[in-house]
Amino acid sequence: DRSVMWFRRDLRLADNPALLAAAEAEAVLPLFVLDPALWGPAGPSRRAYLAASLRSLDASLRSRRTRLSVLEGDPVEQVVAAAREVGASRVHVSADFGPYGSQRDDAVAEALAEHDVELVRTGSPYAVPPGSVRKGDDTPYAVFTPFSRAWAEVGWPDPAPAPSGLSGLELEHPVDLPEVEVPEGLRLPEAGERAAAARWEAYAADHLADYADARDRPDLDATSKMSVHLKWGEIHPRTMLAELGRAAGKGRSTYRSELAWREFYADVLHHRPDTAREYLRAEYARMEYDRADDALEQWQEGRTGFPIVDAGMRQLRGAGWMHNRVRMIVASFLVKDLHIEWQHGARHFLHWLVDGDLASNNHGWQWTAGSGTDASPFFRVFNPTSQGRKFDPRGEYVRRWVPELRDLPDGEDPHDPSPEARRDVGYPEPMVDHKAERAEALRRWESIRR
Ligand code: FAD
Repeated sequence: DRSVMWFRRDLRLADNPALLAAAEAEAVLPLFVLDPALWGPAGPSRRAYLAASLRSLDASLRSRRTRLSVLEGDPVEQVVAAAREVGASRVHVSADFGPYGSQRDDAVAEALAEHDVELVRTGSPYAVPPGSVRKGDDTPYAVFTPFSRAWAEVGWPDPAPAPSGLSGLELEHPVDLPEVEVPEGLRLPEAGERAAAARWEAYAADHLADYADARDRPDLDATSKMSVHLKWGEIHPRTMLAELGRAAGKGRSTYRSELAWREFYADVLHHRPDTAREYLRAEYARMEYDRADDALEQWQEGRTGFPIVDAGMRQLRGAGWMHNRVRMIVASFLVKDLHIEWQHGARHFLHWLVDGDLASNNHGWQWTAGSGTDASPFFRVFNPTSQGRKFDPRGEYVRRWVPELRDLPDGEDPHDPSPEARRDVGYPEPMVDHKAERAEALRRWESIRR
């Protein structure tokens, strides 16, 4: 019999349970469908990265004497057409737990069933599939720490190897692999399964031990940058957890806990798909926010006059990635200094981030906005200037991403240059008075607490 392996967020051959299941058939069609619903809103960095990752997957398949067939359009039509063309009786996927993906998969399963083809979901992008960690009374966890304990108790299988043999099928008329030119000035990480494995090995060997101490320093390049590889499933978290379990140490346990946050947010989104857009704590929808106008644009373009905020927003566009500490700072600034709703920021992030992931992103935003589950309390307002001084003590990060600041004379604070120095180097004045806006944010917050 024949099968289809429909790749989505699992662009790898190793440790891919869905591919192993597909490979049990006599012949397999490796398929990717470019879905306009996802491709459309993706910005240049996301598109370029995905295109490179697909190319890398295709190259791995070619080294096994097959190739990736690509189709474009609504997956409900395209997957059915592909399965019928090769005469497959099963289509294999890793389960998608996002609100769009799970509905899409239900629709595809229904359409396939009309032709007696089965959609088989095996594995997921998570060590523990969302929905499977539950409290004693069978309800989901709302707080991270007990979730992460129960998550570890559920546990996960050891990584599996790539299928040994793969007899590949091809479509008659696939579309070309997407060709995306990387816009000038944008530097993206290398994509693909091999790059992911190499990055992880190098990071585990050289930096993991210092992770807990250095992870908050955007100037140091101390985090793993594995998020993009995890997002596209170029590596499975299980592979990383197996390495983390090999030895003890604070770096390793902290890193493991960050992977658990990723799984926690996926679990929250699975139980509350509405929180991709709506406030998880409904009272926050009643708070007074400002219109998203020029101020939003100034923030997006990195022209707020707060160096750490501007550096982060320019890093987002220049690298398709932003350091976690800075994501928190720029998010806090949008919500609490500019009083703009988190959804505007989340949308901008998802457009640019190569690791943009609905669960981690939108719940990262809700964490900052105070409206999420186990969120940072609203009254904890980040001061962008002191955050900058603390986590980028020599100003190296802000100088890297805000070139104007490289020209500041000695003695100027790169996190708060004087008005004359700003004028001389062409860097804007702070767009708001942080102290006043902090007070204003707290006033608005008090009004929903009553
Ligand atoms: P490392 O510090 O090396 O962490 C290792 C891995 O743990 C990461 O790759 C990631 O998979 C996971 N992780 C770490 N921190 C978090 C976290 N707070 N929440 C969930 N998982 C985490 N992460 C995304 O993957 N996609 C997003 O779209 C995204 N949007 C965010 C938006 C906001 C407002 C905030 C505050 C955080 C967001 N994060 C997101 C979480 C975090 O910032 C990134 O995962 C991290 O910066 C990625 O870099 P890294 O791989 O070097 O991280």
